[in-house]
Amino acid sequence: MTTLKRTLGETARRAVAARTEALFRASGALREGHFTLKSGRHSDAYLEKFQVLQDPAATSELSNTGLWRTLRPVIDDGHCNRCSWVCSTLCPDSAIHVDADHRPRIDYDHCKGCMVCVAVCPRHAIRAVSEREAGRTFEGAMR
Ligand code: SF4
Ligand code: SF4
Repeated sequence: MTTLKRTLGETARRAVAARTEALFRASGALREGHFTLKSGRHSDAYLEKFQVLQDPAATSELSNTGLWRTLRPVIDDGHCNRCSWVCSTLCPDSAIHVDADHRPRIDYDHCKGCMVCVAVCPRHAIRAVSEREAGRTFEGAMR
């Protein structure tokens, strides 16, 4: 789930909050009306969180696990022999897909940075780069 880190600027925090609300609203998870909560309090809104799981695109965006990453795997196409399966099969998050040219492509929205792919590539074609070195910005991570 997307989190609002204290280190984020106010503008970025507002952007995440607005986008999160929009996704919950579009999936029908955010309901408005008159609700009596378990606490006994009353509310004019209720969040049926599991409703969002019926919207795969919204779930995928809200679960942008790439935000957890501190190290980024980067594939050197020149050294990759396009074995087409080692990294994509062993990635525990299924974050590596093979394109039509048999090139592995990393889904950075969902790669958690475990570096399993770096360890298993028989050609040593994947290296670990710190996200700071890669120059990731918060806005870039939310693309
Ligand atoms: S395991 Fe290494 S050589 Fe094989 S497709 Fe992945 S990056 Fe290329
Ligand atoms: S670092 Fe881990 S999660 Fe990311 S692509 Fe490699 S194996 Fe998958």
